Amino acid sequence: MRFDLVSEHASPLAALGGADAGGQNVQVAALAAELGRRGHEVVVHTRRDSPELPPNVRAAAGVTVAHVDAGPPRPLPKDELLPHMAEFGDRLADRWAVRPPDLVHAHFWMSGVAAHRGAAGLDVPVLQTFHALGRVKRAHQGAEDTSPPEREAVEARLARDADLVLATCSDEVRELVAMGAPRHRLRVVPCGIDLDVFAPGPRPERGGRPRVLSIGRLVERKGVDTAIRALAEIPDAELVVVGGPGAAEWDADPEVARLRDVAARHGVRDRVRFAGQVPHDETPDWYRSADVVVSVPWYEPFGTVPLEAMACGTPIVVTSVGGHLDTVVQDGTGLFVPPRDHHGLARELRSLFADRGRRDRLGAAGAARVRERYGWAGLADEVETAYRGAVRRRAPLPARTGGAR
Ligand code: UDP
Repeated sequence: MRFDLVSEHASPLAALGGADAGGQNVQVAALAAELGRRGHEVVVHTRRDSPELPPNVRAAAGVTVAHVDAGPPRPLPKDELLPHMAEFGDRLADRWAVRPPDLVHAHFWMSGVAAHRGAAGLDVPVLQTFHALGRVKRAHQGAEDTSPPEREAVEARLARDADLVLATCSDEVRELVAMGAPRHRLRVVPCGIDLDVFAPGPRPERGGRPRVLSIGRLVERKGVDTAIRALAEIPDAELVVVGGPGAAEWDADPEVARLRDVAARHGVRDRVRFAGQVPHDETPDWYRSADVVVSVPWYEPFGTVPLEAMACGTPIVVTSVGGHLDTVVQDGTGLFVPPRDHHGLARELRSLFADRGRRDRLGAAGAARVRERYGWAGLADEVETAYRGAVRRRAPLPARTGGAR
């Protein structure tokens, strides 16, 4: 079959760690590759953000990334992309008029806007994965939320109009139901992990201080400052922070400056190391180099990082929010702390540093849990079943033959 994924701001080909490139890019790339491996034809439509990009790029077996002309061909913050979604949708319509796909799967709300516009008039199911919800973001960020004001209303409409919404965790289902999404058109398929890449392995010899690791986009809600504050209460440890903007933008980045300032004010500037953006395939070595991985966002729609850390056998301390509530087992595969609680985080980290046996037990149990439940191969089966069901429900019933009553 031919499946078209729409991921307007999150290209499978982008460098990760900047403000708008993280889990969605990883998940869309992995899903496309897994479907391609099964013999499907997959096209991922993403916005052209550079004039140099060719129209189509072969990303993996069976997978093409198509760069769509919508708005100026340069990077734009995702919260400024909505005005360009009509153009994005029209370009999809042009392409699909020539040859429609069997199914469209939109990733993020604005992709849903473009996908429905592109598929209007075609009898093709449109599925939706939100990756994040405006109502959750606003609840946590209030006036600081830079999302377009219409986001929540549009998301509610998309949740009702989609042939099927693929949510990534039970917390999201609760939000979607509160937004009016029909329960019978909601299904949970968590995000997955590439088990060939993220697995326990030799821990690099490095000596030195006990290491706490944080990986992810450097945006305030990720709570990296909570980890920096906690470090001040753990005398010997170092904190390695992976992620953030590219080298060219590093020094001008306000979040980097803010975090450096927090480190200086808490007297831990010499124990916080900013490693910058790391290519995705090098992250397993970073996970394995750490004694503990922390992921302490204020809220988290899914949270790929804790699963990657677990897959590598490294114990984790995470906030008890969002997708973490499904993926992490308290004191089984990791430890929960409340958001923005640096004292609580420091307490848990000290207790883990004092007990090697407990760290090893949590790490091993985490790796086993990810292998059992979160491998992409198994999850792609679930997505494929959902796709086939949606295509079947759209298909016209076979014509009655005479006399068959
Ligand atoms: N990541 C990476 N290199 C970096 C920073 C992040 O490869 O320098 C990846 C990380 O391995 C993970 C993703 O970005 O796969 C972040 O996903 P997550 O779901 O944890 O957070 P999101 O970005 O979706 O908020």
